[in-house]
Amino acid sequence: MDYKEKYEELLEAHRLLENELAALTLKSDNQANNGNDSIKSIVESREKAFLEHLIDSTPEAIAITDCCGKLTLVNTEFTNLFGFNPEEAINKDINDLIVPDEMINEVIRIDDVNIRKQKVYRQTIRKDKYGNKIHVSLIATNIVINNEIVAYLGIYRDISLERKKNLVQEILYNISSAALNQFEMKDIYPTIVQELSKIWDTSNFFIALYDKDSETLSMPFFSDEKDNFREVPARKTITGWVIGLKKPVLFKENDLKSLEDSGDIDLVGTPCKVWMGVPLRADNEIIGVMCFQDYHEENKFTQDDVNALEFIGNQVAIAIQRRTMLNNVILASRKAEEAAQSKQQFMSTMTHEIRTPLNEVIGITNLLLQEHPREDQMDYIKTLRFSGNHLLTLVNDVLDFNKMESGKIIFEQTPFNLSDFLNDILRSYSFRSKAKNLEFDIVKQNELPVEVVGDPIRLNQILFNLLSNALKFTRHGSITVNIVELERSGNESKIEFTVRDTGIGIPKDKHKIIFESFTQASPDTTRHYGGTGLGLAICKKLVELQGGNIEVESEPGKGSAFRFFITFGIPEKSDKVRQPEPAETYAGLEGKRILMAEDNKLNFFVANKFLIGWGVKVTHAENGKIALDLLEREDFDLIIMDLHMPVMDGVEATRIIRKSENPRIKDVPIVALTAAIMSENHDKIDDLKINDYILKPFKPQDLFDRIKKHVR
Ligand code: ADP
Repeated sequence: MDYKEKYEELLEAHRLLENELAALTLKSDNQANNGNDSIKSIVESREKAFLEHLIDSTPEAIAITDCCGKLTLVNTEFTNLFGFNPEEAINKDINDLIVPDEMINEVIRIDDVNIRKQKVYRQTIRKDKYGNKIHVSLIATNIVINNEIVAYLGIYRDISLERKKNLVQEILYNISSAALNQFEMKDIYPTIVQELSKIWDTSNFFIALYDKDSETLSMPFFSDEKDNFREVPARKTITGWVIGLKKPVLFKENDLKSLEDSGDIDLVGTPCKVWMGVPLRADNEIIGVMCFQDYHEENKFTQDDVNALEFIGNQVAIAIQRRTMLNNVILASRKAEEAAQSKQQFMSTMTHEIRTPLNEVIGITNLLLQEHPREDQMDYIKTLRFSGNHLLTLVNDVLDFNKMESGKIIFEQTPFNLSDFLNDILRSYSFRSKAKNLEFDIVKQNELPVEVVGDPIRLNQILFNLLSNALKFTRHGSITVNIVELERSGNESKIEFTVRDTGIGIPKDKHKIIFESFTQASPDTTRHYGGTGLGLAICKKLVELQGGNIEVESEPGKGSAFRFFITFGIPEKSDKVRQPEPAETYAGLEGKRILMAEDNKLNFFVANKFLIGWGVKVTHAENGKIALDLLEREDFDLIIMDLHMPVMDGVEATRIIRKSENPRIKDVPIVALTAAIMSENHDKIDDLKINDYILKPFKPQDLFDRIKKHVR
């Protein structure tokens, strides 16, 4: 019979019993009123026998006590449940018999309510003859005759199983949640123990984890009245035996003895009365064992307990495994983060290291070119300058890409004239295309806004990359830039650019990967065409960071079309569009006093040559400290401040200058010279109150422009 049917039957019996009791109470009243006669007494004794039979055969434990709590009747189920037969129970105080000490107050409360309400229902705990706690449902009613309580009736039902089932569900849930929420494995074990203690006494309980390679057991949790183990070899222990068996076990003292006699195990520690252990199974592998034992009571655990513990054990194993996996993933991602950080650090250092000598190479090349070299030398110097610039572009690409990867790039939102912008591109690429005998054209497919708001430098960078590729990979035919406004809404314009060529084309299976960093369509691309595989990765980042999208359409032999869109703003009519700066003539700095704080002699040498050429009066300081001293004594119209210097660097010197109380010192324009365009150095620059900065190696025009812009 399944549990539900049995329960229904119990309820029915319960109902019958209550009806009968009510009838009995009524009859007693009638008898009291009407007096005895013999027929009635026969009926009465028959009814009494019937009632007694009913009470005895009912599957619920029934106890009747007198007004003082002395037992006057118990049924067979009472004996089954609590272990006391009628002889042991009758005339005993029910509280002494089955109420655990800690529940005595609750009993008093039940009695109180009972007197007023006549009936109380609750779930509570009672104890049996052996002191075992039993979870029961209790219906307590009083028996009233002539408005007077003459007795109490208690009906008990064992709900341990039901409760255990609910508890097991609760425990499973709590253990899984803990496994997800706690980061450290060691923090999960207390939860496991706390949860298990809802059902079992955990004073003799341990969790053992099994290490297959070393065949050892480690105990992340171990609680025992008698022994203490932290790590033991698994061989010949009962725990090891359970791992080998892969099944849960319930051993009594004798079972353990016979196992020991058969040589299967060597008992270590104090012998116990009962030992219950379940393997922790994850993915068909046993990762450990959970075990309860008891030193006093052989019947402490039953097969039901083993089943419940096995069920929980499976969940614990999954929880442990899941947490371990999660931890591995978290650890891996932390390592990846650290690696990315150190990569950035490395790039930052490399910038400095590469740019300093590059500065020297390009700077001296520029100087050599100014000194009227011989015709034959001119070629070498121009090649040198070309290679230097190429190397500089490469370094810039790598740095740019890294900067984008670390999310440190900021896009300008500046109004610019789109027509002028496109004309510049047309001019520059017509010239380069002609040199390769290629046609070049820019086609506006519909009317475009004349002015837009966005980042012209980044747009130029994208088109520059795409057009350079088109030029590089096309031998015959043409290169076209198609531009179309896809959408205009409010003050926004979505513009699509397509760079189309008739070059070598790209196989379909490479369309995706060419946008990844350092990848090219074929392994011999570098050999034939040069390049690093960074250009498209940079384009993709630049487009996507501006909310756009880039894709390619291409077939080998038929050319390629790279298409991307960006949404620009449209300026208010009043906004002034930035005009291209007129070409500089290097005039206007004559007689200006400039203090140059730079430790690298060669850098100073190069810059000094240019500055003097522009008529500037240059003073040199080898570090920030000397610069500060000079500034105290002399007036300067501007300081060129290298940020990396010994003794006192430019960052520190700038801070001191800006804090000065003397306005002559405090407000002196400062243009920083820096090799790093990324990472923390750049952040530092942003914080500093400098007026501008120039990246090394500087272009003479750039140096001139910045000085001119800020000089006093
Ligand atoms: P790089 O040009 O420095 O190698 P890119 O990221 O710009 O790096 O391009 C990646 C690869 O995509 C190129 O090496 C080439 O194989 C392919 N590719 C890019 N543009 C074109 C094009 N217009 N025609 C043919 N192949 C191209």
